[in-house]
Amino acid sequence: MPEYVSQRAKSIKSSPTLTMHAKAREMAAKGIDVINFGVGEPDFDTPDYIKNAGIQAIQDNFTRYTAAAGIPELRKAIVAKLKNENHLDYSLDEILVSPGAKASIATVLMAICNPGDEVLIPAPYWVSYPSQVEMVDAIPVYMSTDESTDFKISAEQLSNTLAALKKPKVLLLNSPNNPTGAVYNRTELEAIAAVCVKHDLLVISDEIYEKMIYDGEEHYSIAQVSDEIKQRTIVINGVSKAFAMTGWRLGYAAGPVDIIKAATCLQGHTTSCVTSITQKASVAALTEDDGSIEKMRLEFDRRRTFLVDEINQIPHVSCALPKGAFYTMANVGYYVKNNCKGIADTNDLCVYLLEKAHIAVVTGTAFGMENYVRFSYANSMENLREGLRRFKKGLESLL
Ligand code: PMP
Ligand code: GLU
Repeated sequence: MPEYVSQRAKSIKSSPTLTMHAKAREMAAKGIDVINFGVGEPDFDTPDYIKNAGIQAIQDNFTRYTAAAGIPELRKAIVAKLKNENHLDYSLDEILVSPGAKASIATVLMAICNPGDEVLIPAPYWVSYPSQVEMVDAIPVYMSTDESTDFKISAEQLSNTLAALKKPKVLLLNSPNNPTGAVYNRTELEAIAAVCVKHDLLVISDEIYEKMIYDGEEHYSIAQVSDEIKQRTIVINGVSKAFAMTGWRLGYAAGPVDIIKAATCLQGHTTSCVTSITQKASVAALTEDDGSIEKMRLEFDRRRTFLVDEINQIPHVSCALPKGAFYTMANVGYYVKNNCKGIADTNDLCVYLLEKAHIAVVTGTAFGMENYVRFSYANSMENLREGLRRFKKGLESLL
């Protein structure tokens, strides 16, 4: 049998978050009641005013290809959002609308990376970053963080890492962070921005969890620091998380015109454009407000404190209180280090928890972090309560 699959495809592992989600769904389809803390997607319905705009688009026969970069009406709405909420000035030709922020990042990486370019990624990181970097023949370079630094890199750490690199190209920053919930403040971003400018480093600033932020923290974009850093930053955002629109598929990139132009050209050859109907619904998402976004945030906040309090009461498990997004990393190192019932790593633990306790959590190794598992609290209070009971019982049975 000849070998048809490319080296590139063979070298990429499938998304661990989506794989865990698929496994949990498979079990559910077989009638097994699985509680899914695996995937990060709001459990809320898309708000009605957004759905209605999508329905209206279909009825108006707004169903054809659009401009590759997105309809002007939507790009205008994005420009206004970036101006009003983030105090950032962009023109329409500095915006690219893509089928999800995932696609925005992949396309921007394709537009800026040459083979062998180094992409700096703070760890833990979102699972798709390393694979997307490898898919464009660039090299991921990890900068580790831990609870003692609130899972954040420092400017000094960035400087030291850069000193050892040959072809540093871009820093992939994600605040609020998936999987830790870390939020970088203005002072930290100013210091990081200064290093990026000094070393002529681009920044991809993934701000998809901007709206999920708690304890009075405020979202700040690194592009706000100065014009110098804005000129080398590509801001990534989208509607999936903020507006409970994961299946609609729409994300966007805002950045220097030459990069956006190159990325638009690439997108024109891959996906053509985002679904026309989704674009209309996203105009509504960005320009109207019925209060549901804040309601969702408050509910996530309530679940966050409940989940973290409960996890911290489980023997030999600890968990820091995240400031943003809807994930938390629980330290389960005790069970791994003590090889409880043959559990060698957190992958084993996640399989055990899924098969025996019927809960899906994602192994920390998927995010570049040993000894942790990630919980998504985009799940109902009822499921959180029952899922935590199962988690506790599952761990107890390992002692
Ligand atoms: N960035 C991060 C950090 C994420 O967690 C996700 C979630 N899928 C995305 C980007 C992409 O989101 P989407 O493609 O649904 O816009
Ligand atoms: N970003 C979400 C997560 O981390 C959705 C799944 C994915 O796209 O990876 O779970």
